[in-house]
Amino acid sequence: MGRTSKDKRDVYYRLAKENGWRARSAFKLLQLDEEFHLFQGVTRAVDLCAAPGSWSQVLSQKIGGQGSGHVVAVDLQAMAPLPGVLQIQGDITQLSTAKEIIQHFEGCPADLVVCDGAPDVTGLHDVDEYMQAQLLLAALNIATHVLKPGGCFVAKIFRGRDVTLLYSQLRVFFSSVLCAKPRSSRNSSIEAFAVCQGYDPPEGFMPDLMKPLLDHSYDFNQLDGPTRIIVPFVTCGDLSSYDSDRSYPLDLEDGSEYKYTPPTQPPISPPYQEACRLKKKGRLAKEIRPQDCPISRVDTLPQ
Ligand code: SAM
Repeated sequence: MGRTSKDKRDVYYRLAKENGWRARSAFKLLQLDEEFHLFQGVTRAVDLCAAPGSWSQVLSQKIGGQGSGHVVAVDLQAMAPLPGVLQIQGDITQLSTAKEIIQHFEGCPADLVVCDGAPDVTGLHDVDEYMQAQLLLAALNIATHVLKPGGCFVAKIFRGRDVTLLYSQLRVFFSSVLCAKPRSSRNSSIEAFAVCQGYDPPEGFMPDLMKPLLDHSYDFNQLDGPTRIIVPFVTCGDLSSYDSDRSYPLDLEDGSEYKYTPPTQPPISPPYQEACRLKKKGRLAKEIRPQDCPISRVDTLPQ
């Protein structure tokens, strides 16, 4: 590809270089701000998945300009330093990184948490969407620790099949959740941004960095308040009817003899049909056990 062909094809790529932004993504955050006034009154912000750093550049210019702003940026990859931006190199899905971010805030809540994170795309859409959703949930988890009530959370989202579930999860924590597609985000991409405003966790919600499904030592009884949902357990059917775990004699209670009844509808084309046919003809390959194999027997003879 010639040096200018990408400049020709992608106007935002070209403009980013001309305007001194490290990546074309800067325009996405700027355009989101045009619509939602994200930076109004913001003095503390967290940029999750920040490298190479164009969103951090925007944040430091927009909120750090007066010297009172405070920006923390996190990424797996190392990032060239930026004035006014404190950097952490780490994985946002890891407890240790989340704790480091929280430590930097020393109890002072952030007004804004943004996440433009994207996993390495595999090309398997379901896997990519799942990974993107997990990044977003990891970002949300961190946000629940550092955001002030009323604060704002903006995160990249893939508008895939299960996006509605994510919206519902976000809506538990924010009074307003919108899906926004900035002009600079390619139409051909399922990428969009969840703009969540008015952080308002459920009453009694205690932020928790544990990942219950991954941490096998997790004690689910620790869950309390709105994080613990107990669904009613109901049994049904007459308790004096047959017990499904018991064996019963074939002869019926009225003394009549048992007669076999064929299944109402046998399977039409079961996967084992071919195996049954081959077995009947004695042509089904038998499993070769190591003790039946002369070579392995020689191998195991004592020297
Ligand atoms: N917003 C950035 C900018 O404007 O320069 C661009 C972000 S880039 C699209 C996505 C970033 O997400 C990559 O730098 C990648 O290293 C980071 N990332 C992906 N998974 C991550 C994770 N688990 N923890 C931290 N960073 C992650």
